[in-house]
Amino acid sequence: MNNKLYGKLIFELSKEGRVGYNLQGNNYGNYEIPAAMQRAEDAQLPECDELTVVRHYTNLSNNNFGVDTGFYPLGSCTMKYNPKINEEVAALPQFQNLHPEQPADTTKGALTLVSMLEHALCELTGLAHFTFKPYAGAHGELTGLMTIDSYHRSRGDLARKKVVVPDSAHGTNPASAAVCGLEIIEVKSLADGTVDFEDLKRIVADQGCEIAAMMMTNPNTLGLFETHIPEIAALIHDCGGLMYYDGANLNPMLGVCRPGDMGFDVMHINLHKTFSTPHGGGGPGSGPVGVREGLQEFFPVVSPYHGNFSVMMRAYAYILSLGREYVKLVGPLATLNANYIKESLKDVYELPIDTMCCHEFVFDGLKDKSTGVTTMDVAKRLLDDGYHAPTIYFPLLFHESLMIEPTENESKETLDEFISVMRQIAEEAKTNPDEVKSAPHNTPIGRVDDVLAAKHPVTNWKTLKNEEMKD
Ligand SMILES: *Cc1c(COP(=O)(O)O)cnc(C)c1O
Repeated sequence: MNNKLYGKLIFELSKEGRVGYNLQGNNYGNYEIPAAMQRAEDAQLPECDELTVVRHYTNLSNNNFGVDTGFYPLGSCTMKYNPKINEEVAALPQFQNLHPEQPADTTKGALTLVSMLEHALCELTGLAHFTFKPYAGAHGELTGLMTIDSYHRSRGDLARKKVVVPDSAHGTNPASAAVCGLEIIEVKSLADGTVDFEDLKRIVADQGCEIAAMMMTNPNTLGLFETHIPEIAALIHDCGGLMYYDGANLNPMLGVCRPGDMGFDVMHINLHKTFSTPHGGGGPGSGPVGVREGLQEFFPVVSPYHGNFSVMMRAYAYILSLGREYVKLVGPLATLNANYIKESLKDVYELPIDTMCCHEFVFDGLKDKSTGVTTMDVAKRLLDDGYHAPTIYFPLLFHESLMIEPTENESKETLDEFISVMRQIAEEAKTNPDEVKSAPHNTPIGRVDDVLAAKHPVTNWKTLKNEEMKD
């Protein structure tokens, strides 16, 4: 968009005295606002005509990237499939206009939905009870760990204050354990990306009676299925600890296998990832926690009422629309799509763990390291072709991590086009590396200095003006 007006802030477009509305005479009488509640000075608001306002905000909205505008191969924290019908269901006024303080006999429909969703999640996970109070995955982890902590304390087992977390885990795992007042023991990964069982045995031999729980993600953050779960669960249970399952990205498992059957005692699910709900910009979310029979009495109260109800409605609509039959296709299709991209690119991108993956996988940058083109450069260059960047520099196991998750619902044509752009970038890295290193070139804002942006953020118009004056 070349028009200069479109790049400006609404304050810069303001002209004193200009209005974009016309208020009719007041037919409803005058209610004076008490003097103490009135402003001493007029609010400093931009003054613009209607077309300027409409164009300004419409053009701003066009600068947003979303699943409705392009392919979004972000690994781990993926925006998965968000069917539009779920939005209609969540917007039904009969549900949307409910108030949490309404008498229970007027909210039976909503309560029935909660209990049917709980039933569906129990079926899918093999656990016995769920609480829907947590508002996000990390909130679910904290809730689950608090549940585990209370369980140990109820038995007078006060020494259990340590949580075993694999080094490949999502950053929220150790963070939640720390917030819960628990200490983290890191267990190493083997070269094949799975948990080092021998290392775990040493940890249990040394500190077994202090272990409250082991947290695991399966398929893990590298998109690999942990094959030693039964042995790991037996080892942790034998020393008195509980098994926690991070089910943020449950899609590769849906209808295929169940954490409850594998020996996990407590888990959370990110409804906003696995069971639809668009969650850009940090919300809205729901991270229900499931437990084995008997542990539900230790659920803490971490939020009022029943949690984020509209996210639960979308999840239930999604589960019902898939049904028993199609829910089983989610995992295989996610796995097929991820492996298709991986195999189509591994001759030009470095694949440190060359095995079959599940819903996601990790490259370690370009194969040809002599070009000087980094994972950051590849991610920025993808923006020029209208793609959201994959997850980069996570997991920390490799220097140039580039983590890709296509999700299960993308067409082969979309995947093929993405593959061809990724190959084109690899080629360009050899023939014209500067073009890649200075990308993006087609976005409203080019390559930003991310260190300066983090250390010296300019977040509002006044600071911007002051900065200009200083210059
Ligand atoms: C996204 C994610 C989380 C955290 O979920 P939030 O809703 O962002 O708090 C935890 N673990 C894994 C594996 C995830 O992908």
